[in-house]
Amino acid sequence: MKITYSIIAPIYNEIDNLPELHRRVKEVMDSAGASWELILVDDGSTDGSTEKIRELAEADKTVRPIIFARNFGHQVAITAGWDYARGDAVIIIDADLQDPPETILELAKKWKEGYEVVYAVRAEREGESWFKKLTAAAFYRLIYSITDVKIPVDTGDFRLMDRKVVDVLKQMKERHRFPRGMSAWVGFRQIGVQYNRAARVAGVTKYPFSKMLKLALNAITGFSYFPLQVATFFGFVSAGVAILAIPVVIYMRIMGSGAFFGQATTLIAVLFLGGVQLISLGILGEYIGRLYDEAKGRPLYIVRDAPEEQ
Ligand code: UDP
Ligand code: MG
Repeated sequence: MKITYSIIAPIYNEIDNLPELHRRVKEVMDSAGASWELILVDDGSTDGSTEKIRELAEADKTVRPIIFARNFGHQVAITAGWDYARGDAVIIIDADLQDPPETILELAKKWKEGYEVVYAVRAEREGESWFKKLTAAAFYRLIYSITDVKIPVDTGDFRLMDRKVVDVLKQMKERHRFPRGMSAWVGFRQIGVQYNRAARVAGVTKYPFSKMLKLALNAITGFSYFPLQVATFFGFVSAGVAILAIPVVIYMRIMGSGAFFGQATTLIAVLFLGGVQLISLGILGEYIGRLYDEAKGRPLYIVRDAPEEQ
């Protein structure tokens, strides 16, 4: 059977949200007038979500359960969803109903207009602590400023992607994954749709600060060389200061100043050698960055339209 929409929900201990998630997705998608499937990826839940997912799948054939052997993390759960999705459009949605399923129809509208990635932008965030909002806002802006690909701010994983985009994402086999960065990286026609992020229906966040930090690291290292280049920058600063200090010290000596007497050569030598070492580290960093790129093995280019034969 041809499927138009695949909705993917990663699930980690969301037992109390599952019936409501299923009910609301079903209500919305049945009104969309096209075939759909709901892919529930159980990311090693321990609260009985697994059995609940099996129950839902038993009762409703549009539900497709994918049960992980253990907790592999949100990003990997999304990836498994991409692998199993059969639809022409693939939608990722949180299982806690913070992303209202009703918004899917708005995403689908843009898709029908010809956009290949329609991401949902959070206009308001309800029921989240000021700490979460602050760290999230800082995170999005930091990522935006240092990554090479412009990853839209205030945007989570809630988005719709065309089959063409998902087929490209499936070729990106990097192990430390940042799906929203990956979907920005591929290009294609992209557009944002604003929505109000609701409070969780039940349960607590599965993203403690440690996991957020890990995600931020994946985003930075996956999409920027910035940390590898920091050493070069400081190296040039340090060596530059040393080189500038030489004429200054000579001038001071000529003028009869006793400042830095007996220390100047040592200070300059330390600064200069420190600088040289940092620059060398930076050079190593550049090579490691290139190795890292090769290891990620991302496609060199992505074609939107081309003649059938090469
Ligand atoms: N999730 C997951 N594996 C994890 C952590 C979270 O599949 O290791 C799922 C979770 O069940 C939810 C989504 O990822 O559907 C987003 O998690 P959460 O709502 O806890 O994050 P927050 O909205 O607080 O950032
Ligand atoms: Mg949530």
